[in-house]
Amino acid sequence: MTFDYAPAPESRSVVDIAPSYGLFIDGEFAPASDGKVFKTVSPSSEEVLSEVAQATGDDVDRAVTAARKAFEKWSALPGAERAKYLFRIARIIQERSRELAVLESLDNGKPIRESRDADLPLVAAHFFYYAGWADKLDHAGYGANPRPLGVAGQVIPWNFPLLMLAWKIAPALATGNTVVLKPAETTPLSALFFADICRQAGLPKGVVNILTGDGSTGAALVAHPDVNKVAFTGSTDVGKAIARTVAGTDKKVTLELGGKAANIVFDDAPLDQAVEGIVNGIFFNQGHVCCAGSRLLVQESVQDELLDALKRRMQTLRVGDPLDKNTDIGAINSAEQLARITALADAGEAEGAERWSPSCELPSAGYWFAPTLFTGVTQAHRIAREEIFGPVLSVLTFRTPAEAVEKANNTPYGLSAGIWTEKGSRMLWMANKLRAGVIWSNTFNKFDPASPFGGYQESGYGREGGRHGLEAYLNV
Ligand code: NAD
Repeated sequence: MTFDYAPAPESRSVVDIAPSYGLFIDGEFAPASDGKVFKTVSPSSEEVLSEVAQATGDDVDRAVTAARKAFEKWSALPGAERAKYLFRIARIIQERSRELAVLESLDNGKPIRESRDADLPLVAAHFFYYAGWADKLDHAGYGANPRPLGVAGQVIPWNFPLLMLAWKIAPALATGNTVVLKPAETTPLSALFFADICRQAGLPKGVVNILTGDGSTGAALVAHPDVNKVAFTGSTDVGKAIARTVAGTDKKVTLELGGKAANIVFDDAPLDQAVEGIVNGIFFNQGHVCCAGSRLLVQESVQDELLDALKRRMQTLRVGDPLDKNTDIGAINSAEQLARITALADAGEAEGAERWSPSCELPSAGYWFAPTLFTGVTQAHRIAREEIFGPVLSVLTFRTPAEAVEKANNTPYGLSAGIWTEKGSRMLWMANKLRAGVIWSNTFNKFDPASPFGGYQESGYGREGGRHGLEAYLNV
């Protein structure tokens, strides 16, 4: 006998979204210099949530000027004083976490279970963690009295809007830099709410500036001559364009780009546990995760058993309303992203891989993609090589550990990997050979502010998080 789930919607009345928002420059909200705006919609319903300003080059200039002016006093504050603001911001985020989680689920499409239990706790943890470093920079291993760089221009993607903001802003402020941040055009709202949190925390004007806008705003920000540090998270193509823009300048740069991670399951792995890790690896956040375990490498002898169990588990995934507390997989973030996922999945079929999805009813409005599994995938297939950034898993097989390493490393990316085995020696042997910035063993997609994160090759360079994350914002 099976039971149906009753709807368990989180109330959206906990968040009050204004019909329009300006840019946050020098502690005030103001319209764009040319008055242009764009709409942000909820991807699960296509409902317009609000209108936000489209920042121009002049607005970028005003924001950078405000950040430069604020830098003088902010960088001169004792670390313990800066820490007070960061602790205050962290506590306000905790206090307002339900509101922010609902907002993030509305604007991004991710399930409330994830925004509430993963994104928001990690956002607060990140501010707490870097607040703790602010008065200990002399002991961070970067020499006595390490100095901040100046104004940081930060550009972030839409998949974890508030978490990516935290990864960028917390270490920048802790080290004494000031910030101009541009959120992604499809998810501007949580950054604007964060601007309000900065005011609530009494953060001095100009220390944090938020500019909403599209790629042209991001391009103007990274190219601005008075920006000392560029921090970018997003696609590899845009990362390359940014690297070209800053080449030949003295700007310090960190790039957190795409990925195509291998999640490798050996025949001695606890398969039930591995199934949970595979599901978490690729279906967490609709697969809109740079370090998603999008290539499953399974040892041939357990392939059938593992895939049977995985399909059974996928049948229980609930796709639908992001605000329903029972939802596992929410909406795809935008029509463009849905088109990209659809095109790559179609290419997988056309190139001869076998496609499977559990039966699931998708809502009629909004952007949706059923969790999808491809078997019979070869390394030449596009779905084995290109980042899909959606709930699509490509399954490949291997016979020996050496073959697993070779296949896992056969990618232009190198952000993360997972290893499932009972043998500690094999796990360490594999971890030494895999070219990836983060390697999980018998788990996947685990994040901690104390742990550095970043890539090899086309996944970018520099590290965010942990003590290593301080270096990107210090003159060392
Ligand atoms: P994107 O590169 O299209 O956009 C990212 C941000 O860059 C947005 O704010 C966008 O407006 C801005 N932008 C666009 N063109 C620009 C330009 N020429 N100059 C400056 N800024 C510009 O990426 P996306 O589609 O928003 O995000 C998905 C990508 O992000 C995926 O490839 C994913 O792997 C990657 N990502 C990486 C990490 C990581 O830590 N490595 C984390 C999350 C996402």
